[in-house]
Amino acid sequence: MPETRVVVLAGGVGGAKFTLGVREALARRGDPPATVVVNTGDDLWLSGIRLQPDVDSILYALAGVNDTERGWGRQGDSERVNRELQEWGAGWPWFTLGDLDLGTHLARTGWLRDGLTPTQVVARLSERWPLGVRLVPMTDAEVDTRVVLHDHSSLHFQEWWTRHRATLAPARFENPGIETARPAPGVLEAIAAADVVLLAPSNPVVSIGPILAVPGIREALRETSARVVGVSPVIGGRVVRGMADVCLAAIGVDTAADAVAAHYGARSAQGVLDAWLLAEEDSGLAAGVAAAGIRPVVAPLWMRDAAASAAIVDAALAAI
Ligand code: GDP
Ligand code: CA
Repeated sequence: MPETRVVVLAGGVGGAKFTLGVREALARRGDPPATVVVNTGDDLWLSGIRLQPDVDSILYALAGVNDTERGWGRQGDSERVNRELQEWGAGWPWFTLGDLDLGTHLARTGWLRDGLTPTQVVARLSERWPLGVRLVPMTDAEVDTRVVLHDHSSLHFQEWWTRHRATLAPARFENPGIETARPAPGVLEAIAAADVVLLAPSNPVVSIGPILAVPGIREALRETSARVVGVSPVIGGRVVRGMADVCLAAIGVDTAADAVAAHYGARSAQGVLDAWLLAEEDSGLAAGVAAAGIRPVVAPLWMRDAAASAAIVDAALAAI
């Protein structure tokens, strides 16, 4: 059987759980490691250091050093430096940076200051552990996501999400500068050469949204000979974790598996999807997905562990 070349578009925690399954499924099939294009809209400067929350979520999960109980950061981390930063009144008092995590941020920032591009920095961060996938940022440009409120004020996505827990009603999300951003080196090539592109069940608005908004990426998905298969982050009318429903509502999309599929759209109708995985709980929505020109595939979509995520990937690959 010929090898299947897989590209994944992913955000942070949902993207990480999915990527663990991609790695497992492809290794089992004897396929080459996937290229994972990661959202960098969450990135930010804080106390002079560059943070890349989604990149690090995937990096730590693949390395097996992530804190699975808390859901973010490093296992067994401490917060000595964070307390000291707070004594100085530096950074954000509601945004905790673990000591080990800070080591990553300092290494990253140092390499950026040395002149490495974000793509080169992510490659360098990927050398420490055998990740089993190739990680690439969506772009080398800084296009940090901002949340615009109804009074036209705006704040960084991290402040809106972490400090305000998405309780401030968003009018829209913006990535200033993204109009002139270019996909990171290798992204378009990987999509063009792929057999399958998988949209992880990540936040459609602030994780997958910024990736698709980098000029050229959406077009590459529409032109590739690969099949493009998405996985629903909504199960039974609810986002599994987090506050993605607030993001969906802000862009006028119902928190429903068929509505998210329609938001991405069929490739036959200016969209990006060939097929869409819906949870068994949502099998009643399959006909609507089909009517939108997207092939519905019903499968268990709970990513309880890597094996469950790998089964989702198997279902996605079987769909094409
Ligand atoms: P973030 O960047 O850390 O917010 O993570 P992502 O954007 O990558 O993923 C967040 C999304 O993952 C949430 O909106 C959830 O709906 C989705 N998600 C989390 N766990 C599961 C799961 O077990 N199954 C499915 N289908 N989606 C999940
Ligand atoms: Ca994120």
